[in-house]
Amino acid sequence: CGIVAYIGEKEAQPILLEGLKRLEYRGYDSAGVSLLVSKSFRIRKTTGRITALEAEIGKETRHESLGIGHTRWATHGKPTTANAHPHTDCSGKICLVHNGIIENYATLKKWLESKGCTFASETDTEVIANLIGYFYSSENGDGDAEREGINKFEWAVQQALRELVGTYGLAILCSDFPDMLIGAKKGSPLILGVGENEYIVASDAAAIVEHTTQAIYLSDNEIVTIKGNTFRTKTIDNITVSKKLSELEFSL
Ligand code: GLU
Repeated sequence: CGIVAYIGEKEAQPILLEGLKRLEYRGYDSAGVSLLVSKSFRIRKTTGRITALEAEIGKETRHESLGIGHTRWATHGKPTTANAHPHTDCSGKICLVHNGIIENYATLKKWLESKGCTFASETDTEVIANLIGYFYSSENGDGDAEREGINKFEWAVQQALRELVGTYGLAILCSDFPDMLIGAKKGSPLILGVGENEYIVASDAAAIVEHTTQAIYLSDNEIVTIKGNTFRTKTIDNITVSKKLSELEFSL
């Protein structure tokens, strides 16, 4: 339903929670956030409102400046805490939030299970995390990524997205890349807000507008990789696309 992700110099957690509140008007049944904390993911999620998520987090202040957040409107699997996003792959290296529906998730899930993946939720989303994780851990990944002029995380995302049938807006983290955020979209909106030394990836301008009015609207089958203070956009077939910065379309 709603996505907000942050990479920059400020503390990500309050920005994510504030962004999620601005997406509340779209409706949702559960919510969650994930921060990359010293090479592993600190995930907090719950059913119900953002205030319930805040209660779950409590007074736990975190200084990390990279994170992803989600409000879920369940399509596959009941509205439970286990099914709430963010989801990780079974190796724990990939963590993501997803809007949309993966139509071929049952086939992919069976195939991943035959490869030894275990699943912790009933969602179609967890299949995406595990598919990326599968490619990320594959032996030929390093060589193929190098030949394509991209890093292994980007390569694994491209490979996985080529297998998906359905719709997605995604914000993805990899624990081996503590200064990198990847966004991707097909059939679900995803906007990159470009601020000063910070970026906000969101499904809706409402979560970006208080930080910046400069934005890039991703098109279907495009992936944005944000690393530190720079970003680049490519298609899922690894073709570089140059995107125009435009004024955020937003009305109060
Ligand atoms: N299909 C996903 C799920 O059921 C995402 C739903 C959404 O867009 O919030 O978890």
